[in-house]
Amino acid sequence: MIHRLRWMIMLVGITLMGAACGAARAPVPAAPERLRVLVTTQQIGDAVQNVAGEQVELVMLLGPGIDPHTYIPTESDLRKFEQADVIFANGLHLEAQMDRVLAQLATREGKTVVQLGDQLDSTNLLSWEPEAGLPYDPHVWNDVRLWKEVVAAIATTLAEVDPSNAATYQANATTYAAELDALHAYLLAQADTIPAEQRILVTAHDAFGYFGRAYGFEVEAVQGLSTEAEASAADIQELAQIIIAGNVPAIFIETTISPRTIEAVQAAVQDATGKPLLLGGELYSDAMGAPGSGTDTYIGMMRHNIDTIVAALGA
Ligand SMILES: [Zn+2]
Repeated sequence: MIHRLRWMIMLVGITLMGAACGAARAPVPAAPERLRVLVTTQQIGDAVQNVAGEQVELVMLLGPGIDPHTYIPTESDLRKFEQADVIFANGLHLEAQMDRVLAQLATREGKTVVQLGDQLDSTNLLSWEPEAGLPYDPHVWNDVRLWKEVVAAIATTLAEVDPSNAATYQANATTYAAELDALHAYLLAQADTIPAEQRILVTAHDAFGYFGRAYGFEVEAVQGLSTEAEASAADIQELAQIIIAGNVPAIFIETTISPRTIEAVQAAVQDATGKPLLLGGELYSDAMGAPGSGTDTYIGMMRHNIDTIVAALGA
């Protein structure tokens, strides 16, 4: 009896050893796969980076100098859309050429598509052309208080989709929100250094409406809220008259738009007055700067913009 028992224990032992050897030969299990997050603009990419850090695999569609209003997604972009678990877009018709594909992707099972502009309280949004089906100005990042809400919406979405990292996302979002509060205070203080009557901000297209409302500037632009329609000679003459009447010392080019229209406005004003009109520098309107430039973060970009404006209008 004892002999048989010993024999059985030996057999069980051999079986277990075999199982252990088998396990040792199996490939090392891969690290848990990270969430694949695709964003359209650099601004959104920076927000995701601040909320999620290395916890997610981030793919950014639109790089420095790319105009989101007119950008048409390529075949390779569409593949990136397919591979993403979560897609964050600005929405409010900013990515005008992607509206259809985003709407289609939103119907897919297992894919989360968030148009961040839609998450904001619409009473805080500026109107666009409601009669054309475009209710709100999409350039919401230009008011830091609105952008803070966008960051919170990103954290909420990621926490829902990836609950195992929810605490990290929420903690990071809280830390970053404090940095955004400091940025908002900086922008207000810098804007205050410019006398009220000199706070007229003239740019190539109407991207600074929220900025003007938040930081106390009257904003004027050659093109409207989108760059889809070309500026006309009449638009240029009309803006030249506003600049002359307001005694505006400088106007600004934008990194995502050819400087031609703003140079045409400059020439029209100079022809009419016989006096020089300064180009005040380059503002980041719809995209941020190149990697390593200091304007490749949202905070760096906003600081660059206000510092450039103060240098040109505050003198
Ligand atoms: Zn724009």
